[in-house]
Amino acid sequence: MSKLEEDIIKLRLLNNTYDYIKKELECSKSTISHHCNKHGLGNNYINNGNPVEYIEIKCKYCGNIFETKIKTSIFCGHSCSTTYNNNLRREERFKTLDKYKIYREECKFKFNVYDFPKEFDLSIIDKYGWYSAKNRGNNYKGISRDHRISIVYGWNNNIPSNIIAHPSNCELIKQNDNAKKNIKCSINIDELNINIIKFNNLYKSIDTNSL
Ligand SMILES: [Zn+2]
Repeated sequence: MSKLEEDIIKLRLLNNTYDYIKKELECSKSTISHHCNKHGLGNNYINNGNPVEYIEIKCKYCGNIFETKIKTSIFCGHSCSTTYNNNLRREERFKTLDKYKIYREECKFKFNVYDFPKEFDLSIIDKYGWYSAKNRGNNYKGISRDHRISIVYGWNNNIPSNIIAHPSNCELIKQNDNAKKNIKCSINIDELNINIIKFNNLYKSIDTNSL
């Protein structure tokens, strides 16, 4: 060990800062840093006279071990934290999309309008026929079953799917009109709830939960 190295270490062990040692021994900071690091007396050594405790943490994203004074650190750096959070948000979006697809499926009408001739004007089906897409019969002026309260509205307002799929939420509509209506609702949820109660009372013999 050179005389300079020895002096640096001695001063450092007395908790002196690099600046103090630099003035005292008239040497460069990089020399001091080099010798101090070699002896485990580096930058982290002094904190008001007490050694600062560095801890090792495994980065949650890249898995690298990094040293930090902050015990609650999770990521080794900004880019790992950004990437991790972006991935998480993407996953959440996909999860939400999957849930929406299930909800959409549950909201489809499962009942047969011919079972409730008093509730629907079935004559317009005789007149126009059922709507069918171009590749399946091509009756674009036909009738389809439309949700009075739309599926999207139900989803956004946490309305149970069995309410949206209920016959009381159904109206027969010419497909042209339906396309124009888009996602607007033709009644509000209070009206629908009243209609559902009336309907369920009227058709007590039918298990309306299974519709
Ligand atoms: Zn990382």
